Amino acid sequence: MPVKIEQIDACRWRIPREGAMRTEGLVFADQAMIEVLQKEQALEQVRNVATLPGIVGRSIAMPDIHWGYGFPIGGVAAFDPDDGGVVSPGGVGYDINCGVRLLRSELEVSEVRPRLKELADALFRNVPSGVGSHRRDLKLSVQEECKVLKEGAHWAVRNGFGRAEDLEHIEERGTLPDAEPELVSDRALERGRNQLGTLGGGNHFLEVQVVEEIHDEQAAAVLGLFAGQVTVSIHTGSRGLGYQVCDDSIRTMLRAAAKYGIHLPDRQLCCAPLTSPEGKQYLAAMAGAANFAFANRQLITHWVRETFEQVLGKGPAQLRMGLIYDVCHNIAKWEQHEVQGQKRRLCVHRKGATRAFPPHHPDTPALYRAIGQPVLIPGDMGRYSYVLVGTPEAFDETFGSTCHGAGRVLSRHAAKKQARGHNTETELAARGILVRAANRATVAEEISEAYKDVKDVVNIVAQAGIGRIVARLRPLAVIKG
Ligand code: 5GP
Ligand code: MN
Ligand code: MN
Repeated sequence: MPVKIEQIDACRWRIPREGAMRTEGLVFADQAMIEVLQKEQALEQVRNVATLPGIVGRSIAMPDIHWGYGFPIGGVAAFDPDDGGVVSPGGVGYDINCGVRLLRSELEVSEVRPRLKELADALFRNVPSGVGSHRRDLKLSVQEECKVLKEGAHWAVRNGFGRAEDLEHIEERGTLPDAEPELVSDRALERGRNQLGTLGGGNHFLEVQVVEEIHDEQAAAVLGLFAGQVTVSIHTGSRGLGYQVCDDSIRTMLRAAAKYGIHLPDRQLCCAPLTSPEGKQYLAAMAGAANFAFANRQLITHWVRETFEQVLGKGPAQLRMGLIYDVCHNIAKWEQHEVQGQKRRLCVHRKGATRAFPPHHPDTPALYRAIGQPVLIPGDMGRYSYVLVGTPEAFDETFGSTCHGAGRVLSRHAAKKQARGHNTETELAARGILVRAANRATVAEEISEAYKDVKDVVNIVAQAGIGRIVARLRPLAVIKG
């Protein structure tokens, strides 16, 4: 049955409340996107989320929405613990704290071009990638791994991977509080042990980029971005450890939903009240996995800096590879929001959605207070990615959230079919983009055509006012999983 949807304005659509829905759905999209979405199940998932107990405000979908496990990817939903609100692993996703970070540099593209091949090869060597990728040189004991789960990016910096000032520029300063490694299964710990400091497969990447267009000079200057500058983006999450934490929680959550009498229109929405032992335990294990992901991105950052230093023969003071920001896009977090004039502590689920806090918010880093929190929106390996900042409108309308990427339009299978007969690496190389991948099939699954044009996606969030475009980045070299 097609989902009933009403247009509000050029970039907003309402799914009216009906049946078991406790609130309405709000979808950010243009007409063309809605037409595609109506043939898929993602809108039904927005509607399903609206039936969950304790949901506050609306069940929200960003323009990069597509089908996900239970909750759509590109979804935002906030829950009130005092009103029976729930936490759901499907609202976070399997890759707990998958996220993106962006490093700046003092390098101009002309300085890097002649060494690009060497740089791509060295990055590919120094940062393990691929589905089962692991490091041989970083063996953690279980005790040490548990410290990673407690401390996140702090653990990495404390052990010499990166700089103290990096922590100022990570969402939550790189550590979610209240992580309980004891609640993470042996199997999850086992899977994570030698995967710390690895990219993983498929959609994850490490990309050397050039700033090709500045949209907002003032904000770009505050972020330290300029046209022609070389930047590096890192997209990865919590690897096998996070996957296992999510997987372990599903059975418990199915039992909990039955125990607390929560009606589930789809079993994949399984959840538990935020105040229940099951809900608290999931959040504490999830925080451990999230911290693992923060540490993972921090370690990779360290090796990226080292690699640039080696290949370009320059020191840190010349390269100035500062961390602009690190955002999570698969997470559930406690945050203060104002609802109908009242301040409330809510659990905000962002699954394939990015926090986009406004200027002057205390959680926006001091350096960026005047412009808002940086928001990193990757596009695809053949076109471009964007840097945005958060807005007051996002804070009011979407719990301070915006989109997280372009969003898939082709399944992996369909993408592979479309790539047949093409040598994607050669075609990209002809356009000045070097690709290094652990697996050739991945490259086919990740062709540009597999994703929406991220320009269309960010234009919608900008038009809706839930993000402000600062700069556009073009890929130079992409390390793929
Ligand atoms: P997800 O976390 O949902 O898998 O991916 C986030 C977004 O990253 C995708 O929606 C897509 O737009 C973008 N993306 C995937 N692969 C690449 C890549 O190789 N380079 C860039 N710049 N973006 C990518
Ligand atoms: Mn991701
Ligand atoms: Mn991921």
